[in-house]
Amino acid sequence: MKKRSRTKNKKYRTVKDVDFKGKRVLMRVDVNVPLDRKGNVRDHQRIVQILPTINYILYKGAKQLILVSHHGRPHGTYDRRQSLQGVWRHFRDELAYDCHFVPDCISYSIPKKKLVLLENLRFHPGEEQNNQRFAKKLASYADIYVNDAFGSYQGHASIVDIPKYRPSFAGFLFQNELDALNFKNVKKPFVFLLGGDKASTKLPLIKKLSKKADKILVGGVLIFYFLKAMGYEIGRSKFNPEYVHLAKKLLKQKNIILPVDLVLAKKPSQGAKTRVAGIKDIKLDEMGLDIGPKTVKKYKGILSKAKTVVWNGPMGLYEVEKFAKNTDALANHLATIKGKVISGGGDSITVINKLGIYNDLDYVSTGGGATLKYIEKGTLPALEALKENAKRFTK
Ligand code: ADP
Ligand code: MG
Repeated sequence: MKKRSRTKNKKYRTVKDVDFKGKRVLMRVDVNVPLDRKGNVRDHQRIVQILPTINYILYKGAKQLILVSHHGRPHGTYDRRQSLQGVWRHFRDELAYDCHFVPDCISYSIPKKKLVLLENLRFHPGEEQNNQRFAKKLASYADIYVNDAFGSYQGHASIVDIPKYRPSFAGFLFQNELDALNFKNVKKPFVFLLGGDKASTKLPLIKKLSKKADKILVGGVLIFYFLKAMGYEIGRSKFNPEYVHLAKKLLKQKNIILPVDLVLAKKPSQGAKTRVAGIKDIKLDEMGLDIGPKTVKKYKGILSKAKTVVWNGPMGLYEVEKFAKNTDALANHLATIKGKVISGGGDSITVINKLGIYNDLDYVSTGGGATLKYIEKGTLPALEALKENAKRFTK
Protein backbone atom coordinates (compact mmCIF):
# COMPACT_ATOMS: atom_id res chain seq x y z
CA MET A 1 0.00 0.00 0.00
CA LYS A 2 2.38 2.69 -1.18
CA LYS A 3 1.48 5.66 -3.35
CA ARG A 4 -1.97 6.86 -2.61
CA SER A 5 -3.91 10.00 -3.26
CA ARG A 6 -6.57 11.53 -1.05
CA THR A 7 -10.00 11.48 -2.61
CA LYS A 8 -10.98 15.07 -3.26
CA ASN A 9 -14.36 16.41 -2.24
CA LYS A 10 -15.22 13.23 -0.45
CA LYS A 11 -18.65 13.45 1.02
CA TYR A 12 -18.31 10.69 3.54
CA ARG A 13 -16.56 10.97 6.90
CA THR A 14 -13.64 8.90 8.11
CA VAL A 15 -12.31 7.90 11.53
CA LYS A 16 -10.16 11.03 11.39
CA ASP A 17 -13.32 13.16 11.57
CA VAL A 18 -14.55 11.98 14.98
CA ASP A 19 -13.49 12.09 18.61
CA PHE A 20 -13.55 8.55 19.99
CA LYS A 21 -12.80 9.50 23.58
CA GLY A 22 -15.12 7.66 25.95
CA LYS A 23 -17.26 6.39 23.07
CA ARG A 24 -18.61 2.93 22.39
CA VAL A 25 -17.82 1.97 18.80
CA LEU A 26 -19.32 -0.73 16.61
CA MET A 27 -17.07 -1.57 13.69
CA ARG A 28 -18.11 -3.68 10.71
CA VAL A 29 -15.07 -5.58 9.49
CA ASP A 30 -14.58 -8.28 6.90
CA VAL A 31 -12.83 -11.18 8.59
CA ASN A 32 -14.18 -13.65 6.09
CA VAL A 33 -10.80 -15.40 6.10
CA PRO A 34 -10.06 -19.00 5.13
CA LEU A 35 -10.27 -21.41 8.09
CA ASP A 36 -8.90 -24.93 8.38
CA ARG A 37 -10.92 -27.96 9.52
CA LYS A 38 -10.38 -27.09 13.17
CA GLY A 39 -11.66 -23.59 12.51
CA ASN A 40 -8.22 -22.00 12.80
CA VAL A 41 -7.23 -19.11 10.57
CA ARG A 42 -5.23 -20.23 7.52
CA ASP A 43 -4.48 -16.80 6.04
CA HIS A 44 -4.75 -13.70 8.19
CA GLN A 45 -4.19 -11.00 5.60
CA ARG A 46 -7.69 -9.60 5.91
CA ILE A 47 -7.30 -9.44 9.68
CA VAL A 48 -3.93 -7.72 9.55
CA GLN A 49 -5.31 -5.06 7.25
CA ILE A 50 -7.91 -3.85 9.75
CA LEU A 51 -5.44 -3.59 12.63
CA PRO A 52 -4.50 0.06 11.88
CA THR A 53 -8.13 1.10 12.34
CA ILE A 54 -8.59 -1.04 15.46
CA ASN A 55 -5.38 0.35 16.98
CA TYR A 56 -6.32 3.92 16.13
CA ILE A 57 -9.77 3.72 17.71
CA LEU A 58 -8.40 2.14 20.89
CA TYR A 59 -5.47 4.56 21.03
CA LYS A 60 -7.86 7.50 20.70
CA GLY A 61 -9.55 6.47 23.92
CA ALA A 62 -12.71 4.66 22.86
CA LYS A 63 -14.49 3.12 25.82
CA GLN A 64 -15.27 -0.01 23.85
CA LEU A 65 -14.74 -1.38 20.36
CA ILE A 66 -17.12 -4.10 19.18
CA LEU A 67 -16.22 -5.90 15.96
CA VAL A 68 -18.86 -7.49 13.77
CA SER A 69 -18.40 -9.48 10.56
CA HIS A 70 -19.90 -12.13 8.35
CA HIS A 71 -18.22 -15.41 7.46
CA GLY A 72 -19.17 -17.60 4.51
CA ARG A 73 -22.79 -18.20 3.59
CA PRO A 74 -24.55 -19.93 6.49
CA HIS A 75 -27.94 -18.63 5.25
CA GLY A 76 -29.36 -17.33 8.49
CA THR A 77 -28.66 -20.28 10.80
CA TYR A 78 -25.83 -21.40 13.04
CA ASP A 79 -23.13 -23.39 11.26
CA ARG A 80 -20.09 -24.36 13.32
CA ARG A 81 -17.86 -24.26 10.23
CA GLN A 82 -18.58 -20.58 9.77
CA SER A 83 -18.03 -19.59 13.39
CA LEU A 84 -15.78 -16.62 14.13
CA GLN A 85 -14.34 -18.36 17.21
CA GLY A 86 -11.18 -19.20 15.26
CA VAL A 87 -10.79 -15.54 14.31
CA TRP A 88 -11.20 -14.58 17.95
CA ARG A 89 -8.53 -17.12 19.00
CA HIS A 90 -6.29 -15.65 16.33
CA PHE A 91 -6.72 -12.15 17.76
CA ARG A 92 -5.99 -13.43 21.24
CA ASP A 93 -3.25 -16.01 20.68
CA GLU A 94 -1.44 -14.92 17.52
CA LEU A 95 -1.89 -11.15 17.58
CA ALA A 96 -1.91 -10.74 21.39
CA TYR A 97 -5.07 -8.62 21.61
CA ASP A 98 -7.10 -8.80 24.80
CA CYS A 99 -10.17 -9.69 22.78
CA HIS A 100 -13.46 -11.11 24.11
CA PHE A 101 -15.91 -13.24 22.21
CA VAL A 102 -19.71 -13.13 22.30
CA PRO A 103 -21.20 -16.34 20.86
CA ASP A 104 -24.21 -14.68 19.26
CA CYS A 105 -24.45 -11.20 17.78
CA ILE A 106 -27.84 -10.19 19.18
CA SER A 107 -28.86 -12.63 21.95
CA TYR A 108 -26.31 -11.89 24.66
CA SER A 109 -25.45 -8.83 26.68
CA ILE A 110 -22.14 -7.30 25.73
CA PRO A 111 -19.36 -7.67 28.33
CA LYS A 112 -17.79 -4.46 29.61
CA LYS A 113 -14.49 -5.11 27.88
CA LYS A 114 -12.41 -2.88 25.64
CA LEU A 115 -12.30 -5.13 22.58
CA VAL A 116 -15.09 -7.54 21.73
CA LEU A 117 -15.80 -9.72 18.69
CA LEU A 118 -19.35 -10.87 18.07
CA GLU A 119 -20.28 -14.13 16.36
CA ASN A 120 -21.03 -14.27 12.60
CA LEU A 121 -23.79 -11.83 11.62
CA ARG A 122 -25.11 -14.18 8.97
CA PHE A 123 -26.21 -16.70 11.60
CA HIS A 124 -29.27 -14.44 11.69
CA PRO A 125 -31.42 -14.01 8.56
CA GLY A 126 -31.85 -10.34 9.49
CA GLU A 127 -28.38 -9.53 8.16
CA GLU A 128 -29.08 -10.48 4.56
CA GLN A 129 -32.76 -9.51 4.72
CA ASN A 130 -32.07 -5.99 5.96
CA ASN A 131 -34.21 -6.48 9.03
CA GLN A 132 -34.45 -3.10 10.75
CA ARG A 133 -34.89 -4.55 14.23
CA PHE A 134 -31.72 -6.54 13.73
CA ALA A 135 -29.87 -3.42 12.57
CA LYS A 136 -31.26 -1.32 15.44
CA LYS A 137 -30.25 -3.93 17.98
CA LEU A 138 -26.66 -3.87 16.70
CA ALA A 139 -26.69 -0.07 16.56
CA SER A 140 -27.86 0.04 20.17
CA TYR A 141 -24.52 -1.38 21.34
CA ALA A 142 -22.63 1.74 20.36
CA ASP A 143 -22.50 5.51 19.96
CA ILE A 144 -20.56 5.42 16.71
CA TYR A 145 -20.43 3.09 13.72
CA VAL A 146 -17.32 2.48 11.63
CA ASN A 147 -17.15 0.55 8.39
CA ASP A 148 -13.79 -0.99 7.53
CA ALA A 149 -15.25 -3.90 5.57
CA PHE A 150 -14.48 -2.92 2.00
CA GLY A 151 -14.79 -6.53 0.81
CA SER A 152 -18.40 -6.76 2.01
CA TYR A 153 -20.02 -4.86 -0.79
CA GLN A 154 -23.52 -6.20 -0.65
CA GLY A 155 -26.06 -3.88 0.90
CA HIS A 156 -26.79 -5.97 3.98
CA ALA A 157 -28.10 -4.75 7.35
CA SER A 158 -24.71 -4.24 9.01
CA ILE A 159 -23.51 -2.28 5.99
CA VAL A 160 -26.38 -0.01 4.96
CA ASP A 161 -28.89 -0.07 7.83
CA ILE A 162 -26.83 0.54 10.97
CA PRO A 163 -25.70 3.89 9.46
CA LYS A 164 -29.34 4.99 9.58
CA TYR A 165 -29.14 5.01 13.36
CA ARG A 166 -25.65 6.14 14.36
CA PRO A 167 -23.05 8.65 13.13
CA SER A 168 -20.96 6.57 10.73
CA PHE A 169 -17.39 6.74 9.50
CA ALA A 170 -15.08 4.91 7.12
CA GLY A 171 -12.05 3.11 8.52
CA PHE A 172 -8.56 3.38 7.05
CA LEU A 173 -8.77 0.23 4.95
CA PHE A 174 -12.06 1.30 3.43
CA GLN A 175 -10.70 4.72 2.60
CA ASN A 176 -7.43 3.37 1.19
CA GLU A 177 -9.37 1.09 -1.12
CA LEU A 178 -11.54 3.92 -2.40
CA ASP A 179 -8.48 6.10 -3.01
CA ALA A 180 -6.49 3.37 -4.75
CA LEU A 181 -9.37 2.43 -7.02
CA ASN A 182 -10.27 5.94 -8.05
CA PHE A 183 -9.26 6.23 -11.70
CA LYS A 184 -10.62 9.69 -12.38
CA ASN A 185 -7.27 11.32 -13.08
CA VAL A 186 -5.44 8.16 -14.00
CA LYS A 187 -2.11 8.32 -15.85
CA LYS A 188 -2.32 6.95 -19.38
CA PRO A 189 -1.81 4.57 -21.09
CA PHE A 190 -4.23 2.83 -18.76
CA VAL A 191 -4.28 -0.92 -19.32
CA PHE A 192 -6.48 -3.60 -17.82
CA LEU A 193 -5.29 -7.19 -17.66
CA LEU A 194 -8.41 -9.18 -17.03
CA GLY A 195 -8.53 -12.94 -16.66
CA GLY A 196 -10.20 -15.48 -14.43
CA ASP A 197 -13.69 -16.84 -14.71
CA LYS A 198 -16.99 -15.26 -13.58
CA ALA A 199 -18.21 -14.03 -16.96
CA SER A 200 -21.37 -12.69 -15.34
CA THR A 201 -19.43 -9.95 -13.52
CA LYS A 202 -16.39 -9.61 -15.74
CA LEU A 203 -18.01 -9.19 -19.17
CA PRO A 204 -20.15 -6.24 -17.96
CA LEU A 205 -16.99 -4.86 -16.38
CA ILE A 206 -15.18 -5.05 -19.72
CA LYS A 207 -18.04 -3.12 -21.28
CA LYS A 208 -17.61 -0.35 -18.76
CA LEU A 209 -13.83 -0.40 -18.91
CA SER A 210 -13.70 -0.24 -22.67
CA LYS A 211 -14.59 3.44 -22.27
CA LYS A 212 -12.04 4.21 -19.55
CA ALA A 213 -9.06 2.07 -20.43
CA ASP A 214 -6.76 2.40 -23.42
CA LYS A 215 -6.41 -1.35 -23.73
CA ILE A 216 -8.04 -4.38 -22.16
CA LEU A 217 -5.96 -7.54 -22.37
CA VAL A 218 -8.15 -10.60 -22.05
CA GLY A 219 -7.11 -13.88 -20.39
CA GLY A 220 -8.60 -16.83 -18.52
CA VAL A 221 -11.98 -18.30 -19.29
CA LEU A 222 -13.14 -14.92 -20.64
CA ILE A 223 -11.15 -15.63 -23.82
CA PHE A 224 -13.54 -18.35 -24.91
CA TYR A 225 -16.57 -16.09 -24.88
CA PHE A 226 -14.91 -13.88 -27.44
CA LEU A 227 -13.62 -16.78 -29.55
CA LYS A 228 -17.09 -18.30 -29.57
CA ALA A 229 -18.61 -14.93 -30.44
CA MET A 230 -16.25 -14.75 -33.43
CA GLY A 231 -17.38 -18.19 -34.55
CA TYR A 232 -14.17 -20.09 -33.71
CA GLU A 233 -14.07 -23.62 -32.37
CA ILE A 234 -13.35 -23.64 -28.61
CA GLY A 235 -13.46 -27.44 -28.16
CA ARG A 236 -14.10 -28.36 -24.55
CA SER A 237 -12.79 -25.13 -23.06
CA LYS A 238 -14.68 -23.82 -20.05
CA PHE A 239 -17.62 -21.75 -21.22
CA ASN A 240 -21.22 -20.87 -20.38
CA PRO A 241 -23.43 -20.13 -23.43
CA GLU A 242 -25.61 -17.81 -21.33
CA TYR A 243 -23.11 -14.95 -21.59
CA VAL A 244 -21.87 -15.19 -25.15
CA HIS A 245 -24.23 -12.43 -26.30
CA LEU A 246 -22.36 -10.02 -24.01
CA ALA A 247 -19.08 -10.90 -25.70
CA LYS A 248 -20.67 -10.49 -29.13
CA LYS A 249 -21.61 -6.91 -28.36
CA LEU A 250 -18.09 -6.18 -27.16
CA LEU A 251 -16.39 -7.41 -30.33
CA LYS A 252 -16.80 -3.98 -31.93
CA GLN A 253 -14.55 -2.41 -29.30
CA LYS A 254 -11.12 -1.94 -30.84
CA ASN A 255 -9.33 -1.72 -27.51
CA ILE A 256 -10.17 -5.26 -26.42
CA ILE A 257 -7.07 -7.34 -27.09
CA LEU A 258 -7.33 -11.12 -27.34
CA PRO A 259 -4.58 -13.74 -27.10
CA VAL A 260 -2.96 -14.95 -30.30
CA ASP A 261 -2.11 -18.41 -29.01
CA LEU A 262 -3.09 -20.81 -26.24
CA VAL A 263 -1.82 -23.82 -24.31
CA LEU A 264 -4.19 -26.69 -25.11
CA ALA A 265 -4.69 -30.13 -23.61
CA LYS A 266 -7.29 -32.89 -23.63
CA LYS A 267 -7.39 -33.04 -19.82
CA PRO A 268 -6.99 -30.30 -17.21
CA SER A 269 -4.37 -32.26 -15.26
CA GLN A 270 -0.68 -32.04 -14.52
CA GLY A 271 0.02 -35.25 -16.43
CA ALA A 272 -1.79 -34.11 -19.58
CA LYS A 273 0.04 -33.73 -22.88
CA THR A 274 -0.05 -30.13 -24.03
CA ARG A 275 0.41 -28.28 -27.28
CA VAL A 276 0.56 -24.61 -28.18
CA ALA A 277 -1.66 -23.45 -31.04
CA GLY A 278 -3.19 -20.33 -32.53
CA ILE A 279 -6.61 -19.27 -31.29
CA LYS A 280 -8.25 -20.52 -34.50
CA ASP A 281 -6.78 -24.01 -34.16
CA ILE A 282 -8.51 -25.51 -31.13
CA LYS A 283 -9.64 -29.07 -31.86
CA LEU A 284 -13.00 -30.47 -30.77
CA ASP A 285 -11.53 -32.61 -28.00
CA GLU A 286 -9.14 -29.97 -26.65
CA MET A 287 -9.48 -27.29 -24.04
CA GLY A 288 -7.66 -23.99 -23.64
CA LEU A 289 -5.96 -23.97 -20.25
CA ASP A 290 -3.44 -21.12 -20.43
CA ILE A 291 -2.45 -18.30 -22.76
CA GLY A 292 0.44 -19.11 -25.12
CA PRO A 293 4.02 -17.76 -25.26
CA LYS A 294 3.38 -15.39 -28.18
CA THR A 295 0.52 -13.85 -26.22
CA VAL A 296 2.76 -13.45 -23.19
CA LYS A 297 5.28 -11.56 -25.33
CA LYS A 298 2.60 -9.35 -26.84
CA TYR A 299 0.96 -8.59 -23.48
CA LYS A 300 4.32 -7.90 -21.82
CA GLY A 301 5.10 -5.31 -24.48
CA ILE A 302 1.81 -3.51 -23.91
CA LEU A 303 2.14 -3.67 -20.11
CA SER A 304 5.69 -2.28 -20.21
CA LYS A 305 4.43 0.89 -21.90
CA ALA A 306 1.49 1.41 -19.55
CA LYS A 307 1.53 4.14 -16.90
CA THR A 308 -1.29 2.47 -14.97
CA VAL A 309 -2.23 -1.21 -14.92
CA VAL A 310 -5.09 -2.96 -13.20
CA TRP A 311 -4.74 -6.72 -13.05
CA ASN A 312 -7.51 -9.08 -12.02
CA GLY A 313 -7.80 -12.80 -12.60
CA PRO A 314 -5.39 -15.56 -13.62
CA MET A 315 -4.66 -16.18 -17.31
CA GLY A 316 -5.28 -19.92 -17.09
CA LEU A 317 -6.07 -22.86 -14.85
CA TYR A 318 -3.31 -21.79 -12.48
CA GLU A 319 -4.20 -24.29 -9.74
CA VAL A 320 -2.54 -26.92 -11.96
CA GLU A 321 1.15 -26.06 -12.15
CA LYS A 322 1.44 -26.96 -15.80
CA PHE A 323 -1.10 -24.28 -16.68
CA ALA A 324 0.15 -21.65 -14.21
CA LYS A 325 3.27 -20.77 -16.17
CA ASN A 326 2.00 -17.84 -18.17
CA THR A 327 -0.06 -16.31 -15.37
CA ASP A 328 3.16 -16.41 -13.36
CA ALA A 329 5.15 -14.91 -16.24
CA LEU A 330 2.83 -11.92 -16.56
CA ALA A 331 2.50 -11.43 -12.79
CA ASN A 332 6.29 -11.45 -12.42
CA HIS A 333 6.49 -8.97 -15.26
CA LEU A 334 4.01 -6.67 -13.53
CA ALA A 335 6.29 -6.70 -10.49
CA THR A 336 9.07 -5.13 -12.59
CA ILE A 337 7.35 -2.53 -14.79
CA LYS A 338 7.59 1.22 -14.20
CA GLY A 339 3.86 1.95 -14.37
CA LYS A 340 1.65 1.86 -11.32
CA VAL A 341 0.14 -1.60 -10.79
CA ILE A 342 -3.07 -2.21 -8.90
CA SER A 343 -4.38 -5.71 -8.37
CA GLY A 344 -7.25 -7.43 -6.65
CA GLY A 345 -9.33 -10.60 -6.59
CA GLY A 346 -9.11 -13.73 -4.47
CA ASP A 347 -7.31 -15.87 -7.01
CA SER A 348 -5.04 -13.04 -8.13
CA ILE A 349 -3.94 -12.53 -4.52
CA THR A 350 -3.18 -16.25 -4.25
CA VAL A 351 -0.87 -15.90 -7.26
CA ILE A 352 0.74 -12.73 -5.83
CA ASN A 353 1.46 -14.46 -2.53
CA LYS A 354 2.76 -17.59 -4.24
CA LEU A 355 5.25 -15.53 -6.24
CA GLY A 356 6.16 -13.27 -3.32
CA ILE A 357 5.53 -10.07 -5.29
CA TYR A 358 3.07 -8.39 -2.90
CA ASN A 359 5.48 -5.55 -2.10
CA ASP A 360 6.46 -5.06 -5.73
CA LEU A 361 2.95 -4.02 -6.72
CA ASP A 362 1.64 -0.56 -5.90
CA TYR A 363 -1.65 -1.63 -4.41
CA VAL A 364 -3.30 -4.97 -3.72
CA SER A 365 -6.98 -4.60 -3.02
CA THR A 366 -8.57 -6.76 -0.33
CA GLY A 367 -11.91 -6.87 -2.09
CA GLY A 368 -12.65 -9.42 -4.80
CA GLY A 369 -16.16 -8.72 -6.01
CA ALA A 370 -16.14 -5.37 -4.21
CA THR A 371 -13.11 -4.17 -6.12
CA LEU A 372 -14.63 -5.03 -9.48
CA LYS A 373 -18.01 -3.59 -8.53
CA TYR A 374 -16.47 -0.33 -7.37
CA ILE A 375 -14.41 -0.03 -10.56
CA GLU A 376 -17.49 -0.75 -12.65
CA LYS A 377 -20.04 1.41 -10.84
CA GLY A 378 -17.88 4.06 -9.18
CA THR A 379 -19.70 3.51 -5.90
CA LEU A 380 -20.86 0.79 -3.47
CA PRO A 381 -23.88 0.42 -1.18
CA ALA A 382 -21.54 0.87 1.80
CA LEU A 383 -20.20 4.14 0.43
CA GLU A 384 -23.66 5.48 -0.35
CA ALA A 385 -24.73 4.65 3.20
CA LEU A 386 -21.77 6.57 4.63
CA LYS A 387 -22.47 9.58 2.40
CA GLU A 388 -26.14 9.56 3.32
CA ASN A 389 -25.14 9.36 6.98
CA ALA A 390 -22.77 12.31 6.66
CA LYS A 391 -25.62 14.41 5.28
CA ARG A 392 -28.07 13.32 7.93
CA PHE A 393 -25.85 13.61 10.98
CA THR A 394 -24.11 16.88 10.13
CA LYS A 395 -27.23 18.93 9.42
P1 ADP B 1 -10.21 -13.69 -9.23
O1 ADP B 1 -10.57 -14.40 -7.96
O2 ADP B 1 -8.76 -13.31 -9.27
O3 ADP B 1 -11.12 -12.53 -9.52
P2 ADP B 1 -11.78 -15.56 -10.77
O4 ADP B 1 -12.39 -16.08 -9.53
O5 ADP B 1 -12.65 -14.80 -11.71
O6 ADP B 1 -10.45 -14.72 -10.44
O7 ADP B 1 -11.23 -16.77 -11.64
C1 ADP B 1 -10.27 -17.65 -11.18
C2 ADP B 1 -10.50 -19.03 -11.73
O8 ADP B 1 -10.47 -19.03 -13.15
C3 ADP B 1 -9.41 -19.98 -11.29
O9 ADP B 1 -10.02 -21.03 -10.53
C4 ADP B 1 -8.82 -20.48 -12.58
O10 ADP B 1 -8.46 -21.84 -12.55
C5 ADP B 1 -9.92 -20.26 -13.56
N1 ADP B 1 -9.46 -20.26 -14.94
C6 ADP B 1 -8.74 -19.31 -15.57
N2 ADP B 1 -8.47 -19.68 -16.83
C7 ADP B 1 -9.03 -20.89 -17.02
C8 ADP B 1 -9.13 -21.81 -18.11
N3 ADP B 1 -8.57 -21.53 -19.28
N4 ADP B 1 -9.83 -22.94 -17.93
C9 ADP B 1 -10.41 -23.23 -16.74
N5 ADP B 1 -10.35 -22.42 -15.67
C10 ADP B 1 -9.67 -21.27 -15.80
MG1 MG C 1 -11.92 -15.99 -7.50
